[in-house]
Amino acid sequence: MPAGPSFPRPRIGISRCIELDHCRYNGDSIGSEFVRRLRDHVELVPVCPEVSIGLGVPRDPIRIVLRGKERHLVQPSTGRDVTSSMVSFTNDFLDRLGEVDGFILKSRSPSCGAYDVRIYPDKANSAPLDRGSGMFGKRVLERLQGIPVEDEARLRNIKLGEHFLTRAFTLRGFRELAESGGVADLVDFHTRNKYLLMMYSQKELKYLGNVVANRSGLSVKDLILDYRSHLRNALSKPPRCTSPVNVLMHCLGYFSEQMRPQEKEFFLQSLQMYKDARIPLSVCLSLMRSYIIRFGSDYLASQTFFQPFPEGILEVGITDSCDWREMS
Ligand code: SF4
Repeated sequence: MPAGPSFPRPRIGISRCIELDHCRYNGDSIGSEFVRRLRDHVELVPVCPEVSIGLGVPRDPIRIVLRGKERHLVQPSTGRDVTSSMVSFTNDFLDRLGEVDGFILKSRSPSCGAYDVRIYPDKANSAPLDRGSGMFGKRVLERLQGIPVEDEARLRNIKLGEHFLTRAFTLRGFRELAESGGVADLVDFHTRNKYLLMMYSQKELKYLGNVVANRSGLSVKDLILDYRSHLRNALSKPPRCTSPVNVLMHCLGYFSEQMRPQEKEFFLQSLQMYKDARIPLSVCLSLMRSYIIRFGSDYLASQTFFQPFPEGILEVGITDSCDWREMS
């Protein structure tokens, strides 16, 4: 098994105040260990919508206020309503953005927030009425459907971080082949990702296998469009904690004749301990990788399931256990 496959660099949009610039309203930036570890492996596309619409640094804070049924972005200290500036900047930015493989937004910001932004009844009240997306974040979520979009707070959850990275690096790999590849490259991509897809969705794996077989004689362009749509679908939700066990059982089938009974029993016990949340998945993955090295299987060695993104971005620990992986 190769020690470290090379990965094409995903293009990731990011709120600029996360690790990159002191552009928050008070001149601060936000620290993120995830982004610190990620930045050497990706091309970041930073954006600060509030600075881009001319609010400056430092600036008085803005908030989302409900007027009737409409959400407005206002600056309580000045009474300024910047909704139309923000809408037009956002549309223009997203029109010019080009292809990205993921987006990391600043949590809880009235502009960039993805999920947990306070929405107020007016500019003075300190109690929020509701929570939702920021004005820029909402459009990012709407326009980038099928692409991983997360905020930096949620990416502290190792399961969500792993899911984000798997999607971003897999979609980047596919984008590379879509730009320059032919049918042989599509077959190769599908072959290398077979067990990763099996972990995510057996249904989509089957569909994608039929796309690659191309029994209807579609053009390469149509094949790639169909494959991309179902690949995005396959990766849309995190896999269940038992799904990697199913994949590892398939892998075990390659070597079960060559293994000593005690060794096979030890591996099966390890899988059960993972299911019981007593050891992390990485223990079972390491065992399987050692069998691949010892018994030899180029096919399994090439599977992205074992390493869908570069090592060292996530700190994988005991929290990688089965019950933990079903959280949120
Ligand atoms: S949250 Fe968005 S708008 Fe606010 S400082 Fe960060 S990048 Fe700029």
